[in-house]
Parts: sequence; structure tokens; C-alpha cells
Amino acid sequence: MPTFPAAVDSRLPGVGTTIFTVMSALAQQCGAINLSQGYPDFNAEDVLFERVAHWMRAGANQYAPMAGVLPLRAAIAAKLTDLYGTDYDADTEITVTAGATQGLFTAIAALVRPGDEVIVFEPVYDSYVPAITLQGGTVRRVTLRAPDYRPVWDEVAALIGPRTRMIIINSPHNPTATIWSAADMAELARLTRDSGIVVLSDEVYEHIVFDGERHQSVARLPELAVRSVIVSSFGKTYHVTGWKVGYVAAPAALMAEFRKVHQFNVFTVNTPVQFALADYMADARRYLGLGDFYQAKRDRFRDALAGSRFELLPSRGTYFQLARFGALSDASDKAFVEWLTREVGVAAIPVSAFFDDGRDEGVIRFCFAKSEDTLDAACERLCRL
Ligand code: PMP
Ligand code: GLN
Repeated sequence: MPTFPAAVDSRLPGVGTTIFTVMSALAQQCGAINLSQGYPDFNAEDVLFERVAHWMRAGANQYAPMAGVLPLRAAIAAKLTDLYGTDYDADTEITVTAGATQGLFTAIAALVRPGDEVIVFEPVYDSYVPAITLQGGTVRRVTLRAPDYRPVWDEVAALIGPRTRMIIINSPHNPTATIWSAADMAELARLTRDSGIVVLSDEVYEHIVFDGERHQSVARLPELAVRSVIVSSFGKTYHVTGWKVGYVAAPAALMAEFRKVHQFNVFTVNTPVQFALADYMADARRYLGLGDFYQAKRDRFRDALAGSRFELLPSRGTYFQLARFGALSDASDKAFVEWLTREVGVAAIPVSAFFDDGRDEGVIRFCFAKSEDTLDAACERLCRL
């Protein structure tokens, strides 16, 4: 192919390939155990696949309604009421999306105008900032500091001004594995009171919370729920990240704006999978049991690494575990994970990738959404160091 006959004026000049893609590709190339990109290495239950096959054979293979099939929207609304106490109207306040990533992008595209300011918390999940930039929004950053990565609310307050359009939050938090408390949510409510600020709440790990703690959804606080767009992902909850199905819940006026963009972005999402997920959601134990399921993996992983030279930070939710490697190396975190992947055969994510300025605190992220055999084999290698 001849080259494009002009200079390409990039909309995202500073952006390369995501660290998740880079590390998974390196892991594959090296035959390393892949604890980098966040996805399970085990399968979902057969019954879920049976439901998809059922709906395909039953003819559910054409376009679903733009907002998603009604049984799935109704199941999502019922779950939100049961767990968090806020009623969402399945007709006007829930939309099924092509994963959380599309939900986040579409919400930002629908609600952020050029010149608007959007507050994010760093380390920050990698899709938020490019989405804001593409809309001409200005990113304002609050730094979460190791080892506990708590938000400092005075710093948030100092960034809020007349141009603040949106605050993006994410609890349980990727990559730090921290969770926000009820007091944090109350602070957020207080700081946004009487403003037009929209809270975009990335709750993809809502069911993966440990040690008896509760997930603090924005939907628990009516005052926050009225200004919030909630984004979640079936990929995380049902071990099917490759299906790319998620949902967005928001008050009708915000959802109307969301759908204006959604209909021209993806229009709608895989029909038989939506019906299958609606059937599967009928048994609440399938998502309610997720915290215990992953807590057992977290504990196995942490116990196995207790004798290693990694310093493990707390993991209170998500399926991630942060570790300091300062006792092993004074390399940069990027160089360290490359060495770990190539020479030790275990891939991880450098946390500097979640900072705009590449801040390197000598911390890496492991994903423990893996079978016991995978975790044991990885820990055996990591403990040799
Ligand atoms: N937000 C966070 C915090 C994530 O970790 C991920 C990765 N699963 C996503 C959004 C994207 O989710 P999905 O795969 O459903 O697009
Ligand atoms: N959310 C996953 C992670 O943090 C990755 C998803 C992706 O590769 N975009 O590892």
C-alpha cells in the first residue's frame, strides 16, 4: 500500500497502543504467565452459553431495540433497586452498551463540550483522558498517593470551579484496588451540591469487594444518583470480557442525551447475548457470590507471595493486586515488568502507565482473576526472585 499522501494531523498525538495490549502481546510472545491485562483465564458457566445458543436458535438474531432488550434492562433496573435502593426506569434510564468502554466514551461525548473541565483521579484508567481530549474537554487531575491512595477532598474542592462539567470516579478502583467509603461518597455529594456537575461513576468492579465491605454505588445516595451516570460491565461480572457487553444507568434527562450519541455510535448491541444475560441475571447469587469468589483468589495469591521480596499493598476490591518491587530492583517499573515477562515468565502492568506524567513509584499491578494452577505457577516463579 502506498503511503497516505499528506501529513496525518493526529487528534491524539501523545497516545500509543494501550499498555494492556502491549503487555498481553509481550506475554504471548514470551510464553509468560499473563497477570497483566485484566481478564479471567477460566470460563463462564455452561448454562450461560446454553442461554446464548437458545436465543440464537430461537431467532433473536436481528437488531435489538436501540437501548437494549427490555428483559435485560428490567433485570438491571431490578438489581439496582435491590442492591442500592434507587429506582431506575427500564424504559428511559437504562441503556445496554458494547462494554463499559463504550458507555464511558459515549457519556463523555454526550455531555462534555469544548472548554469544559473534567476532574479525574490519578492513577487513572486509560480510556478516560483520550475520550475527554477528543471532545475538547480539559482534564484536571487529583493525585491518589501510595500506599493507600485515598482521595484528598480538599484537593478535589480546589479544582472545582464554574467550568467543571464532570467528575469521573471509579470504585472499586483500577489499578489501586482501593474502595471508596460512604464518607467519601458523602463528601462528593457535598462538593457537587447545587452545581450542574455530572458524576460519571465507573462501577465495573461493583460486585468485587472484599472483607465484608459494601460497594458504595452513587445509586445509594439519592443526592448523587440524580447527577450521576453509572457504567458497569458484564464482562467483569460474568467472566466474559470478550463479549463486550455492559450498561449505563442515569436519570432520564441525562440518559436522553446519552442515547442521542449512542444511537449513532453503536446503535445497539449483540441481541442473543442480551437475552441470555437477562436470563442469567435472574439468579442474583451469580453476582452476589463474586466478592467471595475473588477474595479466595486474592488470599491465595497474597499468601503465596508472602515469602517473596515483593511488598504487597492492600487489595480491598477489583481483581488486582499492587506490589512494590524496590527490594528486587531499582529499574523503572516499565523496565521491570519487561524483564519480569521475558526473564521470569510472569507479565504484569507498570502503574506509571496510569499517570499522565509517567510518575513511577516502583509499583506494578498483578491480575489474580486466574485459575489456582495459574496463580500457583506464577507465585512459584515470583518467589524465586
Ligand atoms: N473501566 C475500568 C476501570 C476497567 O478496568 C475496565 C476494563 N474492564 C473497563 C472500564 C472497560 O470494561 P469493558 O471491557 O466492559 O469495556
Ligand atoms: N480493564 C482491563 C485492565 O485493566 C483491560 C481492558 C483493556 O485491555 N482495554 O487490565
